[in-house]
Amino acid sequence: MKLSLLFLFFLLTISSSCGSHPKVTKDIDKIVAPFDGEKFQNLEPFPDKSLFQVLSWKIPSLFTKPKWPENLDNKRFKPMTERSEELKVTVINHSTVLIQMNKLNILTDPQYSNRASPLSWAGPKRVISPGIAFEDLPPIDIVVISHNHYDHLDLPTLKRLNEKFNPTVYVGLGNKPLLNENKIEKVIEMDWWEKLIFGEVAIHFVPVQHWSARSTSDKRETLWGGFVLEGNKKVFFAGDTGYGKVFKLIYEKLGAMDLSLIPIGAYEPRDFMKNAHVWPKESVKIFQDTKSKKAIGIHFGTFSGLTDEEIDQPRKDLNKALKANNIFESDFIVPVFGKTY
Ligand code: ZN
Ligand code: ZN
Repeated sequence: MKLSLLFLFFLLTISSSCGSHPKVTKDIDKIVAPFDGEKFQNLEPFPDKSLFQVLSWKIPSLFTKPKWPENLDNKRFKPMTERSEELKVTVINHSTVLIQMNKLNILTDPQYSNRASPLSWAGPKRVISPGIAFEDLPPIDIVVISHNHYDHLDLPTLKRLNEKFNPTVYVGLGNKPLLNENKIEKVIEMDWWEKLIFGEVAIHFVPVQHWSARSTSDKRETLWGGFVLEGNKKVFFAGDTGYGKVFKLIYEKLGAMDLSLIPIGAYEPRDFMKNAHVWPKESVKIFQDTKSKKAIGIHFGTFSGLTDEEIDQPRKDLNKALKANNIFESDFIVPVFGKTY
């Protein structure tokens, strides 16, 4: 509890220390995502939360939110193959997914740290170890990062990956300077609807309903999004998102998905979270809107204190939503971290 209060104090004090220089260098007329020269915007805009609103949620919730276990046992898996032509997908934890296809190894939003936080001693804390140990990762060719929140863009993990594998890192516009400052040089920025090719895989960066910030003073200064990875199969990684018309749009532009990786956790309190985080009912709508053959849930069960639902709530709520829509649980899987599907 003491650490949580200190973390809130930290939130108050970082507001003036960051976000001072322009992050986006691309010619503003050439940017497709809505951008006013300073901030990016969603396709369906929603108001930013003020620090007062954040504290009005966080302080009472310190006393009322359900307690997560301190440490969950999990079986550690080793990746089934070093490389694979056919699609193999392993959720390692939270939004970190190893996607293997066309002989490439792709990692999404890599997070191996003990906290999803700017501080090593406070902030949302890991309750389960990654399903594949860092040492057991196969050679990583590509890293895709959906946005710069601490549970998705984790500098310590990215530095380790950079040292070990020197992968190409794909990010939204404006995120390159932060990585370059941390000696991660092989970084490619993407605009919404941009498509790039790596080997036999096309990488599309697509809009989702979210926002970005590393401090209280740099909201929406860097671009957020999802990725569609198109090789033997078409895989949609939704990153972190609220629900919106954008998913039907992604289907119209890029066609039906073989597999979608869709967030199912971090959605309570609903009133506070609803614009930027889907709850399982909406995760199912994304599955339907993108006409996905299969889906796997991400963004749950890893960091305690991120939001207010119980650790097992996403699984229960997803199963209810699947039942209500006559969808088999085997078509929208809640994965075991580290197990390959
Ligand atoms: Zn986020
Ligand atoms: Zn997140």
